[in-house]
Amino acid sequence: MKRWSVVRNGEPLQCLEYPDPKPSGTEILLEVTHCGVCHSDLHFQKGSFDMGGGQVMKITDRGVKLPCAPGHEIVGRVVALGPDAEGVKIGDQRIVYPWIGCGKCELCLSDRENLCYKPNSLGVIRDGGFGTHVVVPNSTYLVEFGGLDPALASTFACSGTTVHSAIQKLMPLERDKPILLVGAGGLGLAAISVLRALGHKRMIVVDISAEKRTAALKAGASDAVDSSGDREKVVANILESAGGLLPAAIDFVNISQTVSIALECLGKNGKLVLVGVGGGDFNLSLAGMIFRPRSIIGTITGSREDLRAVVALAQSGKLPPVPVTRMPKDSANEALELLKTGKVVGRLVLEELPA
Ligand SMILES: [Zn+2]
Ligand SMILES: [Zn+2]
Repeated sequence: MKRWSVVRNGEPLQCLEYPDPKPSGTEILLEVTHCGVCHSDLHFQKGSFDMGGGQVMKITDRGVKLPCAPGHEIVGRVVALGPDAEGVKIGDQRIVYPWIGCGKCELCLSDRENLCYKPNSLGVIRDGGFGTHVVVPNSTYLVEFGGLDPALASTFACSGTTVHSAIQKLMPLERDKPILLVGAGGLGLAAISVLRALGHKRMIVVDISAEKRTAALKAGASDAVDSSGDREKVVANILESAGGLLPAAIDFVNISQTVSIALECLGKNGKLVLVGVGGGDFNLSLAGMIFRPRSIIGTITGSREDLRAVVALAQSGKLPPVPVTRMPKDSANEALELLKTGKVVGRLVLEELPA
């Protein structure tokens, strides 16, 4: 088998060859047919996160051992079963739930595996979908997606699941209330799509890229505001679009400027959910949080239930598809470079090479 792996942080991926893995116990071996390319894969390649206050967290501090292949939006075909594996058969194509934990703690046993303190996530901690094969511990990590395009379905493993989980943290929220979405990359567009499927009508999107703002409007955003330039002006433009302070915001960028803008736009009891890992820090007026009470909520990916919910929305025909650009599986480096330029609209998905 092959894996396109990070060998040294900051350098292009290398194609490494390994013997085909033999699943043991309940393990299942899948041939990767599709793998979405996420901004987190760029962070994984770079190898560090800006934690604010001059602090940096390295991926090796999180238990990653290089070489390691990124890729956590995986769809694969079952090619081998461990002797005790159940629930799937050879040839079945499934979405892989990549947010694997220790499998034993209270969080893992209550479908909050994405919050496990000993994460073992595919393409984040251990080898992921930028390769020909991937192994999962058992069939509970595999989700059926009958009737859906596998390239689109792969994006549900991270972007779909993550936005569904973030949106749930804003609920309950009346469907005609405005929601601020910061960033119209893959996750921003996925959020518009899931919010529309849930019946929400007023998504105000901000982005610095004119191309991405156009994509957001095309995807169903009610307004798109340019977030480049003067902060006061950006806030004023958002408030004008919303007709006043907003009850809810999701920040898919999550850097000092975007968080400061989003918080300024929230009214009393407004909620801001932080999703991006742009990083940094910002000053918060503590008394300001009392006189205009607001909540800041962090979120990381989502549960298997979130993934299943997104698949069900898509199968019901209510979920408008996010634009997907397909690239051959062996062009992972080109895909990461393209994502780095900030010009990708929707999601890039690496696809199996024709036999
Ligand atoms: Zn991701
Ligand atoms: Zn656990």
